[in-house]
Amino acid sequence: MAHAMLSASSSHRWMACPPSARLELEFPEKTSEYAEEGHFAHALAELKLSRAIANTTKPSVFKKRLAEMRQDPMFSPAMEEYIDQYVNLVSEIFLTAKKQCSDALVLLEQRLNFSQWVPEGYGTGDVVIITDDTLEVIDLKFGKGIPISAVNNPQTRLYGLGAISTYGMLYDFSKIRMTIIQPRLDNISTEELTVEELLTWAEEDLKPKAQLAFSGKGDFNAGEHCQFCRAKVTCRARAEANLELAKYEFQKPPLLDDDEIAEILAQADLLQAWVNDVKTYALEQARDHGKKWPGWKLVEGRSNRTYTNVDAVAETLIAAGYTEESIFKKSLLGITEMEKVLGKKKFGELLAELIIKPPGKPVLVPESDSRPEINSLQSAIEDFSGELPF
Ligand code: SF4
Repeated sequence: MAHAMLSASSSHRWMACPPSARLELEFPEKTSEYAEEGHFAHALAELKLSRAIANTTKPSVFKKRLAEMRQDPMFSPAMEEYIDQYVNLVSEIFLTAKKQCSDALVLLEQRLNFSQWVPEGYGTGDVVIITDDTLEVIDLKFGKGIPISAVNNPQTRLYGLGAISTYGMLYDFSKIRMTIIQPRLDNISTEELTVEELLTWAEEDLKPKAQLAFSGKGDFNAGEHCQFCRAKVTCRARAEANLELAKYEFQKPPLLDDDEIAEILAQADLLQAWVNDVKTYALEQARDHGKKWPGWKLVEGRSNRTYTNVDAVAETLIAAGYTEESIFKKSLLGITEMEKVLGKKKFGELLAELIIKPPGKPVLVPESDSRPEINSLQSAIEDFSGELPF
Protein backbone atom coordinates (compact mmCIF):
# COMPACT_ATOMS: atom_id res chain seq x y z
CA MET A 1 0.00 0.00 0.00
CA ALA A 2 1.43 3.41 -0.97
CA HIS A 3 2.14 5.67 1.98
CA ALA A 4 0.16 8.87 2.39
CA MET A 5 2.37 11.96 2.16
CA LEU A 6 1.15 13.02 5.61
CA SER A 7 1.29 9.62 7.25
CA ALA A 8 0.55 9.02 10.93
CA SER A 9 3.95 7.44 11.47
CA SER A 10 5.74 10.57 10.22
CA SER A 11 3.38 13.06 11.90
CA HIS A 12 5.82 13.87 14.71
CA ARG A 13 8.21 15.15 12.03
CA TRP A 14 5.84 17.02 9.72
CA MET A 15 4.13 18.67 12.68
CA ALA A 16 7.52 19.94 13.90
CA CYS A 17 8.80 20.83 10.41
CA PRO A 18 5.80 21.19 8.02
CA PRO A 19 7.71 21.79 4.74
CA SER A 20 9.66 18.54 5.24
CA ALA A 21 6.66 16.54 3.94
CA ARG A 22 6.91 17.92 0.38
CA LEU A 23 10.70 18.15 0.41
CA GLU A 24 10.88 14.43 1.22
CA LEU A 25 9.05 13.56 -2.01
CA GLU A 26 12.25 14.36 -3.90
CA PHE A 27 13.96 11.38 -2.27
CA PRO A 28 13.20 7.67 -2.74
CA GLU A 29 11.59 5.71 0.09
CA LYS A 30 13.96 3.11 1.55
CA THR A 31 13.04 0.05 3.54
CA SER A 32 15.24 -1.67 6.12
CA GLU A 33 15.66 -5.11 7.63
CA TYR A 34 14.00 -3.79 10.82
CA ALA A 35 11.02 -2.46 8.88
CA GLU A 36 10.61 -5.83 7.13
CA GLU A 37 10.82 -7.62 10.47
CA GLY A 38 8.19 -5.24 11.87
CA HIS A 39 5.81 -5.98 8.96
CA PHE A 40 6.24 -9.69 9.47
CA ALA A 41 5.65 -9.40 13.23
CA HIS A 42 2.45 -7.41 12.56
CA ALA A 43 1.22 -10.08 10.13
CA LEU A 44 1.88 -12.78 12.75
CA ALA A 45 0.08 -10.74 15.42
CA GLU A 46 -2.90 -10.18 13.14
CA LEU A 47 -3.13 -13.90 12.39
CA LYS A 48 -2.98 -14.84 16.07
CA LEU A 49 -5.47 -12.17 17.15
CA SER A 50 -7.84 -13.18 14.35
CA ARG A 51 -8.02 -16.61 16.00
CA ALA A 52 -7.71 -15.59 19.66
CA ILE A 53 -10.25 -12.79 19.92
CA ALA A 54 -11.77 -11.74 16.61
CA ASN A 55 -12.71 -15.29 15.59
CA THR A 56 -12.36 -14.41 11.92
CA THR A 57 -10.00 -17.22 10.87
CA LYS A 58 -11.07 -20.88 10.79
CA PRO A 59 -8.89 -23.25 12.86
CA SER A 60 -7.71 -25.18 9.78
CA VAL A 61 -6.77 -21.98 7.90
CA PHE A 62 -5.07 -20.63 11.02
CA LYS A 63 -3.00 -23.78 11.42
CA LYS A 64 -1.92 -23.78 7.79
CA ARG A 65 -0.97 -20.10 7.73
CA LEU A 66 0.89 -20.33 11.02
CA ALA A 67 2.86 -23.33 9.74
CA GLU A 68 3.77 -21.33 6.62
CA MET A 69 4.86 -18.32 8.66
CA ARG A 70 7.04 -20.50 10.88
CA GLN A 71 8.98 -21.50 7.77
CA ASP A 72 9.68 -17.91 6.81
CA PRO A 73 13.31 -16.75 7.29
CA MET A 74 11.99 -13.73 9.25
CA PHE A 75 10.39 -16.00 11.86
CA SER A 76 12.07 -16.93 15.14
CA PRO A 77 10.74 -18.62 18.31
CA ALA A 78 11.61 -15.46 20.27
CA MET A 79 9.51 -13.34 17.89
CA GLU A 80 6.56 -15.70 18.35
CA GLU A 81 6.81 -15.45 22.13
CA TYR A 82 6.88 -11.66 22.03
CA ILE A 83 3.86 -11.71 19.74
CA ASP A 84 2.08 -14.19 22.06
CA GLN A 85 2.78 -11.79 24.93
CA TYR A 86 1.22 -8.96 22.89
CA VAL A 87 -1.76 -11.13 21.95
CA ASN A 88 -2.32 -11.97 25.64
CA LEU A 89 -2.24 -8.29 26.58
CA VAL A 90 -4.70 -7.35 23.84
CA SER A 91 -6.93 -10.28 24.87
CA GLU A 92 -6.91 -9.01 28.48
CA ILE A 93 -7.84 -5.49 27.33
CA PHE A 94 -10.66 -6.94 25.23
CA LEU A 95 -11.91 -9.15 28.10
CA THR A 96 -12.00 -6.14 30.42
CA ALA A 97 -13.94 -4.22 27.76
CA LYS A 98 -16.35 -7.16 27.45
CA LYS A 99 -16.98 -7.16 31.20
CA GLN A 100 -17.98 -3.52 30.99
CA CYS A 101 -19.98 -3.91 27.80
CA SER A 102 -21.10 -7.31 26.56
CA ASP A 103 -21.41 -5.95 23.00
CA ALA A 104 -17.74 -4.83 22.89
CA LEU A 105 -16.43 -5.10 19.34
CA VAL A 106 -12.87 -5.78 18.20
CA LEU A 107 -11.53 -4.94 14.73
CA LEU A 108 -8.08 -5.76 13.36
CA GLU A 109 -5.89 -3.94 10.84
CA GLN A 110 -8.48 -1.30 10.07
CA ARG A 111 -7.81 1.42 7.54
CA LEU A 112 -8.42 4.62 9.50
CA ASN A 113 -9.17 7.75 7.54
CA PHE A 114 -8.26 11.04 9.23
CA SER A 115 -8.45 13.20 6.10
CA GLN A 116 -11.00 15.44 7.81
CA TRP A 117 -8.02 17.06 9.58
CA VAL A 118 -5.01 15.92 7.50
CA PRO A 119 -5.31 16.15 3.70
CA GLU A 120 -5.33 12.65 2.15
CA GLY A 121 -4.39 11.24 5.58
CA TYR A 122 -5.03 7.65 6.50
CA GLY A 123 -3.26 4.91 8.42
CA THR A 124 -3.78 1.37 9.68
CA GLY A 125 -4.96 0.69 13.22
CA ASP A 126 -3.63 -2.65 14.50
CA VAL A 127 -6.53 -3.14 16.93
CA VAL A 128 -9.69 -1.09 17.52
CA ILE A 129 -11.98 -1.96 20.44
CA ILE A 130 -15.35 -0.27 20.72
CA THR A 131 -17.60 -0.28 23.81
CA ASP A 132 -20.61 1.84 24.77
CA ASP A 133 -18.57 4.69 26.15
CA THR A 134 -14.94 4.10 25.09
CA LEU A 135 -13.06 3.64 21.84
CA GLU A 136 -9.59 2.14 22.16
CA VAL A 137 -6.90 1.94 19.49
CA ILE A 138 -3.88 -0.25 20.12
CA ASP A 139 -0.62 0.09 18.24
CA LEU A 140 1.97 -2.71 18.24
CA LYS A 141 5.56 -1.55 17.99
CA PHE A 142 7.96 -4.42 17.48
CA GLY A 143 11.17 -2.38 17.66
CA LYS A 144 13.39 -2.58 20.70
CA GLY A 145 15.01 0.84 20.50
CA ILE A 146 13.52 3.08 23.17
CA PRO A 147 10.20 2.95 25.04
CA ILE A 148 7.65 5.15 23.26
CA SER A 149 5.04 7.04 25.23
CA ALA A 150 1.46 7.30 24.00
CA VAL A 151 1.03 10.60 25.86
CA ASN A 152 0.93 13.54 23.44
CA ASN A 153 1.88 11.12 20.68
CA PRO A 154 0.56 12.47 17.35
CA GLN A 155 0.73 9.07 15.63
CA THR A 156 -1.63 7.32 18.05
CA ARG A 157 -3.80 10.42 18.24
CA LEU A 158 -4.20 10.29 14.45
CA TYR A 159 -5.27 6.66 14.67
CA GLY A 160 -7.75 7.74 17.36
CA LEU A 161 -9.10 10.46 15.09
CA GLY A 162 -9.37 8.02 12.19
CA ALA A 163 -11.35 5.65 14.42
CA ILE A 164 -13.65 8.47 15.58
CA SER A 165 -14.17 9.50 11.97
CA THR A 166 -15.04 5.94 10.95
CA TYR A 167 -17.11 4.72 13.90
CA GLY A 168 -18.28 7.94 15.59
CA MET A 169 -21.51 7.98 13.57
CA LEU A 170 -22.39 4.42 14.58
CA TYR A 171 -21.46 4.41 18.27
CA ASP A 172 -21.88 6.84 21.12
CA PHE A 173 -18.52 6.68 22.92
CA SER A 174 -17.31 9.74 24.84
CA LYS A 175 -13.77 8.64 25.77
CA ILE A 176 -10.86 7.50 23.68
CA ARG A 177 -7.88 5.44 24.79
CA MET A 178 -4.75 5.22 22.66
CA THR A 179 -2.33 2.49 23.66
CA ILE A 180 1.16 1.54 22.49
CA ILE A 181 2.47 -1.95 23.27
CA GLN A 182 6.17 -2.74 22.80
CA PRO A 183 6.51 -6.38 23.87
CA ARG A 184 10.31 -6.46 23.46
CA LEU A 185 10.67 -3.64 25.96
CA ASP A 186 7.81 -4.63 28.32
CA ASN A 187 6.39 -1.20 27.58
CA ILE A 188 2.67 -0.41 27.65
CA SER A 189 1.73 3.23 27.46
CA THR A 190 -1.79 4.68 27.27
CA GLU A 191 -3.24 8.11 26.81
CA GLU A 192 -6.91 8.60 27.66
CA LEU A 193 -8.77 11.69 26.47
CA THR A 194 -12.37 12.65 26.04
CA VAL A 195 -13.45 12.69 22.42
CA GLU A 196 -13.92 16.42 22.81
CA GLU A 197 -10.33 16.94 24.01
CA LEU A 198 -8.96 14.99 21.04
CA LEU A 199 -11.14 16.89 18.57
CA THR A 200 -10.02 20.21 20.04
CA TRP A 201 -6.35 19.22 19.60
CA ALA A 202 -7.14 18.13 16.04
CA GLU A 203 -8.77 21.44 15.12
CA GLU A 204 -6.41 23.80 16.93
CA ASP A 205 -3.00 22.17 16.63
CA LEU A 206 -3.04 19.37 14.07
CA LYS A 207 -5.16 20.80 11.26
CA PRO A 208 -3.27 24.11 10.76
CA LYS A 209 0.08 22.28 10.71
CA ALA A 210 -1.25 19.60 8.35
CA GLN A 211 -2.47 22.29 5.95
CA LEU A 212 0.93 23.99 5.99
CA ALA A 213 2.64 20.64 5.43
CA PHE A 214 0.34 19.65 2.58
CA SER A 215 0.97 22.91 0.75
CA GLY A 216 4.74 22.80 1.43
CA LYS A 217 4.61 25.96 3.55
CA GLY A 218 5.71 26.84 7.08
CA ASP A 219 9.15 27.11 8.60
CA PHE A 220 11.85 24.46 8.42
CA ASN A 221 12.77 23.41 11.91
CA ALA A 222 15.70 21.06 12.60
CA GLY A 223 15.72 18.79 15.62
CA GLU A 224 15.73 15.14 16.69
CA HIS A 225 12.92 14.43 14.23
CA CYS A 226 15.39 15.01 11.33
CA GLN A 227 16.80 11.50 11.80
CA PHE A 228 13.65 10.08 10.17
CA CYS A 229 13.54 12.59 7.30
CA ARG A 230 14.54 11.48 3.79
CA ALA A 231 15.93 14.97 3.10
CA LYS A 232 18.18 14.89 6.16
CA VAL A 233 21.53 14.62 4.39
CA THR A 234 21.31 17.59 2.07
CA CYS A 235 18.73 19.69 3.94
CA ARG A 236 20.04 23.23 4.29
CA ALA A 237 18.04 24.05 7.44
CA ARG A 238 19.57 21.07 9.24
CA ALA A 239 23.06 21.97 7.99
CA GLU A 240 22.66 25.58 9.12
CA ALA A 241 21.37 24.53 12.54
CA ASN A 242 24.39 22.29 13.01
CA LEU A 243 26.91 24.72 11.59
CA GLU A 244 25.78 27.21 14.25
CA LEU A 245 28.38 25.47 16.38
CA ALA A 246 31.11 26.97 14.20
CA LYS A 247 30.56 30.27 15.98
CA TYR A 248 32.50 28.91 18.96
CA GLU A 249 35.72 29.24 16.95
CA PHE A 250 35.44 32.97 17.34
CA GLN A 251 34.41 33.17 20.97
CA LYS A 252 36.33 35.54 23.26
CA PRO A 253 37.75 35.15 25.90
CA PRO A 254 39.78 32.07 24.90
CA LEU A 255 38.08 29.61 27.30
CA LEU A 256 34.45 28.52 26.94
CA ASP A 257 32.27 29.16 29.98
CA ASP A 258 29.86 26.63 31.56
CA ASP A 259 26.81 27.91 29.68
CA GLU A 260 28.60 27.60 26.33
CA ILE A 261 29.70 24.03 27.10
CA ALA A 262 26.14 23.15 28.13
CA GLU A 263 24.88 24.59 24.84
CA ILE A 264 27.41 22.53 22.87
CA LEU A 265 26.36 19.40 24.77
CA ALA A 266 22.74 20.07 23.85
CA GLN A 267 23.64 20.04 20.16
CA ALA A 268 26.43 17.47 20.12
CA ASP A 269 24.29 14.38 19.39
CA LEU A 270 22.42 16.13 16.61
CA LEU A 271 25.70 17.41 15.17
CA GLN A 272 27.28 13.96 15.29
CA ALA A 273 24.24 12.35 13.63
CA TRP A 274 24.29 14.99 10.88
CA VAL A 275 28.03 14.61 10.22
CA ASN A 276 27.63 10.81 10.02
CA ASP A 277 24.72 11.14 7.59
CA VAL A 278 26.70 13.50 5.33
CA LYS A 279 29.78 11.22 5.40
CA THR A 280 27.71 8.12 4.58
CA TYR A 281 25.91 9.88 1.74
CA ALA A 282 29.13 11.29 0.24
CA LEU A 283 30.82 7.87 0.36
CA GLU A 284 27.84 6.09 -1.23
CA GLN A 285 27.66 8.65 -4.03
CA ALA A 286 31.40 8.38 -4.74
CA ARG A 287 31.57 4.57 -4.47
CA ASP A 288 28.30 3.64 -6.18
CA HIS A 289 27.78 6.50 -8.64
CA GLY A 290 31.28 7.75 -9.43
CA LYS A 291 30.60 11.16 -7.87
CA LYS A 292 33.68 13.39 -7.51
CA TRP A 293 33.67 15.69 -4.49
CA PRO A 294 36.02 18.70 -4.89
CA GLY A 295 39.24 18.04 -2.95
CA TRP A 296 38.35 14.42 -2.07
CA LYS A 297 39.16 11.04 -3.63
CA LEU A 298 38.16 7.42 -3.08
CA VAL A 299 40.92 5.09 -1.79
CA GLU A 300 41.09 1.64 -0.27
CA GLY A 301 40.58 1.73 3.49
CA ARG A 302 42.56 -0.29 6.02
CA SER A 303 41.92 -4.02 5.95
CA ASN A 304 42.82 -7.07 8.00
CA ARG A 305 44.33 -10.36 6.88
CA THR A 306 41.79 -13.13 6.40
CA TYR A 307 41.87 -16.89 5.60
CA THR A 308 40.91 -17.72 2.02
CA ASN A 309 39.66 -21.19 3.02
CA VAL A 310 39.02 -22.02 6.68
CA ASP A 311 38.73 -25.80 6.08
CA ALA A 312 42.04 -25.91 4.18
CA VAL A 313 43.76 -23.98 6.99
CA ALA A 314 42.51 -26.46 9.61
CA GLU A 315 43.51 -29.49 7.48
CA THR A 316 46.99 -28.07 6.87
CA LEU A 317 47.59 -27.41 10.57
CA ILE A 318 46.27 -30.77 11.75
CA ALA A 319 48.41 -32.53 9.12
CA ALA A 320 51.34 -30.55 10.53
CA GLY A 321 50.70 -32.00 14.00
CA TYR A 322 48.71 -29.24 15.73
CA THR A 323 45.80 -30.40 17.91
CA GLU A 324 42.20 -29.25 17.36
CA GLU A 325 42.21 -27.72 20.89
CA SER A 326 45.15 -25.53 19.98
CA ILE A 327 43.73 -24.15 16.73
CA PHE A 328 39.97 -23.86 17.45
CA LYS A 329 38.23 -21.86 20.13
CA LYS A 330 34.63 -22.31 21.27
CA SER A 331 32.53 -19.30 22.09
CA LEU A 332 29.00 -18.99 23.43
CA LEU A 333 26.31 -17.26 21.39
CA GLY A 334 25.63 -13.68 22.45
CA ILE A 335 22.53 -13.01 24.58
CA THR A 336 20.32 -11.73 21.74
CA GLU A 337 21.20 -14.62 19.43
CA MET A 338 20.81 -17.16 22.27
CA GLU A 339 17.34 -15.80 23.05
CA LYS A 340 16.42 -16.16 19.37
CA VAL A 341 17.55 -19.80 19.35
CA LEU A 342 15.95 -20.83 22.68
CA GLY A 343 12.84 -18.66 22.51
CA LYS A 344 12.03 -16.11 25.23
CA LYS A 345 10.33 -18.58 27.63
CA LYS A 346 13.03 -21.27 27.61
CA PHE A 347 15.69 -18.58 27.72
CA GLY A 348 14.10 -17.17 30.89
CA GLU A 349 13.58 -20.61 32.47
CA LEU A 350 17.13 -21.78 31.93
CA LEU A 351 19.20 -18.63 32.09
CA ALA A 352 17.39 -15.97 34.15
CA GLU A 353 19.63 -16.60 37.16
CA LEU A 354 22.74 -16.52 35.03
CA ILE A 355 22.25 -13.14 33.46
CA ILE A 356 22.86 -9.78 35.06
CA LYS A 357 22.50 -6.29 33.75
CA PRO A 358 25.35 -4.31 35.27
CA PRO A 359 24.81 -0.60 35.84
CA GLY A 360 25.65 1.40 32.72
CA LYS A 361 28.54 3.82 32.55
CA PRO A 362 27.54 7.37 33.50
CA VAL A 363 26.30 9.43 30.56
CA LEU A 364 25.32 13.07 30.41
CA VAL A 365 21.71 13.58 29.26
CA PRO A 366 19.39 16.60 29.25
CA GLU A 367 17.47 17.25 32.49
CA SER A 368 14.26 16.32 30.68
CA ASP A 369 15.43 12.65 30.42
CA SER A 370 13.22 10.39 32.58
CA ARG A 371 16.09 8.41 34.17
CA PRO A 372 16.91 9.28 37.80
CA GLU A 373 20.03 11.36 38.36
CA ILE A 374 23.07 9.61 39.80
CA ASN A 375 25.51 11.33 42.08
CA SER A 376 28.89 10.27 40.71
CA LEU A 377 30.86 11.50 43.74
CA GLN A 378 28.49 9.66 46.10
CA SER A 379 28.75 6.43 44.01
CA ALA A 380 32.53 6.69 44.08
CA ILE A 381 32.46 6.93 47.89
CA GLU A 382 30.10 3.91 48.09
CA ASP A 383 32.22 1.91 45.62
CA PHE A 384 35.34 2.41 47.66
CA SER A 385 33.85 2.23 51.18
CA GLY A 386 35.53 -0.60 53.12
CA GLU A 387 38.21 -0.98 50.47
CA LEU A 388 40.57 1.76 51.57
CA PRO A 389 44.14 0.55 51.96
CA PHE A 390 44.50 1.81 55.56
S1 SF4 B 1 16.03 17.39 7.68
FE1 SF4 B 1 14.98 18.27 9.44
S2 SF4 B 1 14.89 20.46 9.03
FE2 SF4 B 1 15.34 19.45 7.09
S3 SF4 B 1 13.35 19.12 6.14
FE3 SF4 B 1 13.84 17.24 7.25
S4 SF4 B 1 12.86 17.54 9.26
FE4 SF4 B 1 12.97 19.57 8.31
